[in-house]
Amino acid sequence: MCTGNQDVAHRHTNDESMSMNLQQRTELAAHCQTVHWDVDMASYSTFRTGGVVEAVAEPGNADELAALMRWLHQQQVEWRVIGGGSNILVTNGYHQGVFIRLRGSVEDMAAVPDAGAETSKGSRVQVGAGCSLAVFVSWCARNGLTGLEFMAGIPGSVGGAIRMNAGAFGHSISEVLQRVQCTTDRGELLEAASTDIAFSYRHTVFPGEPATRMLITRGTFFLQRADRKGVAARCREIVEQRRQKQPSGVGSAGSFFKNPAGDFAGRLIERAGLKGLTLGKAMVSPQHANFIVNTGGAVPEDIIGLMQVVRSKVLQQSGVLLEPEVHIF
Ligand SMILES: Cc1cc2nc3c(=O)[nH]c(=O)nc-3n(C[C@H](O)[C@H](O)[C@H](O)COP(=O)(O)OP(=O)(O)OC[C@H]3O[C@@H](n4cnc5c(N)ncnc54)[C@H](O)[C@@H]3O)c2cc1C
Repeated sequence: MCTGNQDVAHRHTNDESMSMNLQQRTELAAHCQTVHWDVDMASYSTFRTGGVVEAVAEPGNADELAALMRWLHQQQVEWRVIGGGSNILVTNGYHQGVFIRLRGSVEDMAAVPDAGAETSKGSRVQVGAGCSLAVFVSWCARNGLTGLEFMAGIPGSVGGAIRMNAGAFGHSISEVLQRVQCTTDRGELLEAASTDIAFSYRHTVFPGEPATRMLITRGTFFLQRADRKGVAARCREIVEQRRQKQPSGVGSAGSFFKNPAGDFAGRLIERAGLKGLTLGKAMVSPQHANFIVNTGGAVPEDIIGLMQVVRSKVLQQSGVLLEPEVHIF
């Protein structure tokens, strides 16, 4: 199943009979250092629920990733990429194909200053897509680089943040991004300047998409120099503001719906009287109406069912059809 802003052409099927055969499974294991089979996606999603995916592959370095992409293309095996799993919901059932998970340990995935590009004002920083955003933001604070404090407290990976054009407080990651490196679905490396990438609210389209599918492998950022303590203090403030507004200790994917132009999804949901509404073990958070939370033991259908109720009630009341921000696979 695939809804929202997802590309239907690349959906996985729930038909177990179309799974990889033994030879393909052996070849996949030979191509990739770490492969987990028949994976319960609850462990890979901050929603803490999800269906089963045939294989989760974690390439150990950039070469392994490129070889894996070539093999997947050659074998016509379906794939998706995930980072921290903080903006996805994997529907129930069996998803054939491979979920590629980038991790911080992949070669060149640490935040490294590009010394050649340093100026008195700032610094260019290259970061691997698998790097945790939190690790990157605190690295910036430690190194006295400002520009990403508004991202403090957003979970997930740098690659996921670029793909989602994640942001907060009226800013988004694209504002400080200079270049993005991708691996295509044929295993070729491509690099694009951010001026050539179409960034919009929680959405990114690379040159060549959708005909070619892109997996982000690295981002290059330009950040201004600033007092370290000041940057760290701003990050702490932002995290504190989030802590006060957002539910904690429950599964979620952050804001479930995109804000419609000129309004807030949370305001419309609250106005429709839906705070605290439950379906199974999913609930519209009483603390933040745009969070659908897993109160413990929710199945994906609970969350999807609640999403549908919220959309239809808000449409009835306000005439606005909310669009999910969460990517539903
Ligand atoms: C408590 C909480 C608070 C949140 N607050 C915010 C917020 O303030 N602002 C905000 O914008 N978001 C927020 N989010 C949502 C989420 O954290 C962001 O969207 C995040 O950037 C997603 O990164 P990820 O690595 O977890 O991506 P995933 O959830 O793993 O993937 C999201 C999408 O990106 C794609 N993707 C992931 N990695 C790559 C890659 N390397 N190349 C190509 N595509 C890729 C996936 O295929 C998927 O379509 C919040 C989530 C939670 C749980």
